[in-house]
Amino acid sequence: MMDAAPDAGDGEIERLKRENQQLRARLADLETIFTSMPVPIAMSQDADSNDIEVNPAFAALLGVDTDVNVSATSPDAEKLPYRLMRSGKPMEPDDMPLRKAGRLRKEIQDEIEILRDDGIRYYIYGAAKPLFDEEGNVRRTFGAFVDVTDRKRAERALQQSMEALFKANEELQQFAYAASHDLQEPLRTIASFTQLLERRYSKDKDASDYTALIVEGVNRMNILIRDLLQYSRLGSAAELKRTPFELGNALQWALLNLDHSIREKKATVSHETLPEVIADESQMVQLFQNLIGNSLKYKTDLPPLIHVGVEEEEDDWVVSVRDNGIGIEPEFKDKIFGVFKRLHGRDVPGTGIGLAICRKIVENHGGRIWVESDGKNGSNFRFTLPK
Ligand code: ADP
Repeated sequence: MMDAAPDAGDGEIERLKRENQQLRARLADLETIFTSMPVPIAMSQDADSNDIEVNPAFAALLGVDTDVNVSATSPDAEKLPYRLMRSGKPMEPDDMPLRKAGRLRKEIQDEIEILRDDGIRYYIYGAAKPLFDEEGNVRRTFGAFVDVTDRKRAERALQQSMEALFKANEELQQFAYAASHDLQEPLRTIASFTQLLERRYSKDKDASDYTALIVEGVNRMNILIRDLLQYSRLGSAAELKRTPFELGNALQWALLNLDHSIREKKATVSHETLPEVIADESQMVQLFQNLIGNSLKYKTDLPPLIHVGVEEEEDDWVVSVRDNGIGIEPEFKDKIFGVFKRLHGRDVPGTGIGLAICRKIVENHGGRIWVESDGKNGSNFRFTLPK
């Protein structure tokens, strides 16, 4: 006698039919996802990835039809119209993501370059994973990727322009150094022969006037060259001698160096407690010296009042050197930081390199420098130093 009643049997069949329908629907859904997703997906039919199927998005990248077996170990692999590359070299089949994931029995993430025979290059990034059967054997592998070609190109372009910029900067630095260094020698020759001429033609009024002008020109050029040399000697950020020290000490050194001028101009310099920083100490001395030196130089008829303050921000210290001097018209507030840029004639001594040096020091330390002034009531030079 049969165990199952006819009713129960019908019910079971109905249930199996329903389950079958659901499975088919699910399979169809997965198939639709596989074929219509705009991301490259590959799936092997076997554990060793000797037979790999790709979805239309991937096939389009590779330049093949969707029915082509794209496995590098397939008998027709030679005919595939592209090469998979890593670091400019063709990849070994064992190193390819699906095969590797199957061999290592775990998910792997990878970035691959696809070099097609038609010269088009793509970069993809993604993960490959093994799928296991009930006994824990790898049944097949699959991988899903993203096309990162645009990002890669942008990265490469950025890298190239950074390298070009770095090189140009190095060359400029070397040029400035060599030029200013080598120019000193002929200048010395001009100076000494002018002195000889002066002695020989001392009785001739015109000759003395001319030689005096030559000497003046030579002296001015000497100062320009000296300043340019000082600017180019600052070097790059990589050449900084960074140590931890009290920024207040650097300020004291600068004030000591300016002592004569501070007394002469009856200036008052006040300051807040400055923090400990990690920076190039001698460059910080120079920075304060140039800024405070300018405050002493660009004074009004009143005795200079100079205040060095500091504010703490999340990532930076913001240091300020404020004075009651002649101020700077807002339209010139960027220009004054350029090499040899100044707003005054010969009557005020200087070459216009001081603030260019300040900017280079601050920027080499990863900071910014700017000035705040309404052109009347003094200037407030401010710079940041990353903590
Ligand atoms: P220099 O003092 O040799 O001219 P700098 O590069 O130090 O060169 O300064 C550039 C110009 O910026 C100066 O010529 C001056 O016009 C202006 N300047 C700098 N500091 C101040 C200041 N504290 N007050 C007013 N003007 C200033």
